[in-house]
Amino acid sequence: MAELRSLIVVLGDQLDLDASGFDDFDARVDAVWMAEVAEESTHVWSSKPRTVMFLAAMRHFALALQHAGRPLHYTRLEAPGNGGSLAAQLQADILRLKPARLVMTAPGDWRVLEAIKAVAAASKLPLDIREDRHFFSSVRDFAAHAKGRKALRMEYFYREQRKRHDVLMQDGEPVGGQWNFDADNRAAFGAAGPGAVPPRAKFEPDATTREVIALVCSRFAHHPGRLESFAWPVTRAQALQSLQAFVRERLPLFGRYQDAMWPGEPWLYHAHLSAALNLKLLNPREVVAAAVAAHREGHAPLSSVEGFVRQILGWREYVRGVYWTQMPGYLERNELEAEHDLPAWFWTGATDMACLRDALTQTLEHGYANHIQRLMVTGLYTLMLGVQPKQVHAWYLAVYVDAVEWVELPNTLGMSQYADGGLMGSKPYIATGKYIQRMSPHCKGCRYDPAQRSGDSACPFTTLYWDFLMHHEAALAQNPRMALQVKNVARLTDAQKQAVHDRAAAVRRGDVGTARISARSLE
Ligand SMILES: Cc1cc2nc3c(=O)[nH]c(=O)nc-3n(C[C@H](O)[C@H](O)[C@H](O)COP(=O)(O)OP(=O)(O)OC[C@H]3O[C@@H](n4cnc5c(N)ncnc54)[C@H](O)[C@@H]3O)c2cc1C
Ligand code: SF4
Repeated sequence: MAELRSLIVVLGDQLDLDASGFDDFDARVDAVWMAEVAEESTHVWSSKPRTVMFLAAMRHFALALQHAGRPLHYTRLEAPGNGGSLAAQLQADILRLKPARLVMTAPGDWRVLEAIKAVAAASKLPLDIREDRHFFSSVRDFAAHAKGRKALRMEYFYREQRKRHDVLMQDGEPVGGQWNFDADNRAAFGAAGPGAVPPRAKFEPDATTREVIALVCSRFAHHPGRLESFAWPVTRAQALQSLQAFVRERLPLFGRYQDAMWPGEPWLYHAHLSAALNLKLLNPREVVAAAVAAHREGHAPLSSVEGFVRQILGWREYVRGVYWTQMPGYLERNELEAEHDLPAWFWTGATDMACLRDALTQTLEHGYANHIQRLMVTGLYTLMLGVQPKQVHAWYLAVYVDAVEWVELPNTLGMSQYADGGLMGSKPYIATGKYIQRMSPHCKGCRYDPAQRSGDSACPFTTLYWDFLMHHEAALAQNPRMALQVKNVARLTDAQKQAVHDRAAAVRRGDVGTARISARSLE
């Protein structure tokens, strides 16, 4: 057997034929390595849709590699002797294949980077880790931006990104004369509802995906989530079709309804592109370019296009920078000393709170929820309930098809749970049930009343909001952006405070909010 020069390690979220790991690839002396391992579905209790998303996309990418003539060593999950973890499988394959070196595009996750470094060191093999040029900016660029700043703010980073990459800029100024069109965005649907929302781009599972679905159903039978409606894009061609469909059908209204929710309507005007982006089936540059072109051609208003570009060029790059400049300590942060357990019904949807039930059942069904459901329904509830951030993180990392740690962790631990003490966001996102009432009709169909903070019909969100303010009163009073909200606590009488306290205790015990019947029969 000819000597193997480089073994190119490709992870499940690195499915890009043009990735830096393939620079100078020579099929005569190099080979690609990929492995499906149980650990990636069990280190958190990965939902069935998420596991299928990764494995189906990996198997399709293996076909693309074959088509491109790149030799591949691929271990399937069900292969006899599968090592069970990336490290164990790689170690075994190094012994068998005897490469002279390992090459890879920088992994997205700290845990995986450490594991592969350890294998290389134990095998005494050089490991060539290359910049992940999928992103607009490098981690070094972000570190330079962050240097010397006490707190990070996405807005400043985003403006730098717009200028540096010349996106929606004209003569050095933002197109339209302003950086941000929030005032035009964030509407609710109103009583008439969203009307006929364009159907999502659906991809009927082919034979490869069906095989993965069967495998996941038997191997991970007890994992959360359902697969009956799995229709995510799992190839680059499908991902491109999804992008085109989004730009054509949804982008014009993306901005206006960015924060809206409607019962039983999971897709609305969002892009549904995060999984394809995170698995690297799509490049963010082509996504941003397609949106900007839609504006130039008069197909989509600037407010929508800017709002969308901000998510990709701003937030997505920003959270990656936060992750890599803060890890590994970031995972341990728990600024609010939250120690409550995650309610068990987060894994089933069995709650009698209409807004949470809708977000959770949809999440388990599709592996998807939009940003506002993640931030202002599920995340808001765990924040105010005081759930330990690591448990919240493990849930978000498990349930969504787009969940990879570099993007999930800063969003969860920082933006949503304020566990980093304000590094990501300037204040905790807290609100009463009235916020949800404003953005959706959920409260109309709910047994609770968002206007009540105590008593039998009190909305748990509203109770927990006041309880949160009371519990963290001293710390929050120091934050100028919270001062007004905190002042309201002083208006409560001792008896009113006690009533909130008692009701919050009942919510925490699970006496309130837990459905006594299954989520499905509540639908
Ligand atoms: C608690 C919490 C956990 C989250 N976990 C993840 C995760 O694991 N993976 C993930 O990709 N996103 C995560 N997000 C961000 C965001 O909710 C999702 O990217 C978005 O809902 C995906 O749906 P979409 O493609 O329809 O997005 P759209 O709303 O249509 O937005 C367009 C694109 O912008 C990007 N984007 C939008 N918001 C963010 C953000 N805050 N951070 C990074 N990228 C963003 C995504 O790539 C997305 O596809 C999380 C947000 C919260 C509050
Ligand atoms: S009343 Fe409270 S729990 Fe019920 S839907 Fe409204 S916000 Fe959610």
